[in-house]
Amino acid sequence: MPFLTQLADVARRTGSPVTEVAGWRTRGHGPQPEVQGVVCHHTAGPAGGGDYPSLAVVRDGRPGLGGPLSHFGLGRSGRIYVIAAGRCWHNAPSTSPWHDNSSSLGIEAENNGTQPWPAAQRESYVRLCAELCRAFKLPASRVKAHREVNTAKPDPHSIDMNDFRASVAAIIKAGPDAFWTEELVRNLPVIRLGDDNYDVKTVRGCLFARGHVPPAVYADLPGGLRAWLESTVADDGLMALVSAFQQARGLSADGVVGPETWPPLLRV
Ligand SMILES: [Zn+2]
Repeated sequence: MPFLTQLADVARRTGSPVTEVAGWRTRGHGPQPEVQGVVCHHTAGPAGGGDYPSLAVVRDGRPGLGGPLSHFGLGRSGRIYVIAAGRCWHNAPSTSPWHDNSSSLGIEAENNGTQPWPAAQRESYVRLCAELCRAFKLPASRVKAHREVNTAKPDPHSIDMNDFRASVAAIIKAGPDAFWTEELVRNLPVIRLGDDNYDVKTVRGCLFARGHVPPAVYADLPGGLRAWLESTVADDGLMALVSAFQQARGLSADGVVGPETWPPLLRV
């Protein structure tokens, strides 16, 4: 295998922000011989100091161990730092033939070793592993914690790797186009005539923002537009507007806000 210059594109498929660290395409202890696994680490860096204070260490190494130490860094915000396209010194000695330095990719996530993981970072961690599995045709079972493939290491702390791998597997299975926006939309409720909840207000606000609420609809209402937008009730008038919106977008005009209608309403 050559230097893995596709790694930044793979990282971008997660939907997370990506920083390409200058020089990454030719950085490595020679090219990466093969990719049979992914190893998850924490940096054991400082408790504070911004998104990815360990960047210089992971890129350049530390006394006794030359950089790069890992292909990827993962910031507290979920931002992915692409650091190296060649072989990195992130796991030796390995107890697994699929997770040594010549056969695996390393991800160093910023964490001091005890602090809680921010949700955005944890989510990005799972997605990066899933995209790497897809790109290198690996099952989720090839994603390992450093502590699982090196008896001397504790990282990454407090992450249940069976849960983690189950999340990775679910993303792999969902298909290449299932980005977070689609997951979000899938989790939205279906709004039907007669419903009374706060999601109805979201429908009203979106319809208005998309220009699908003619002034005649609220002109005679006590309280006017504000009152119309505040209503949590999916009444006949609202559902007629939903149908008109669906028709305008070429959807089946059933007057129900479900998985087909939420995305154009939310513009995702
Ligand atoms: Zn480690």
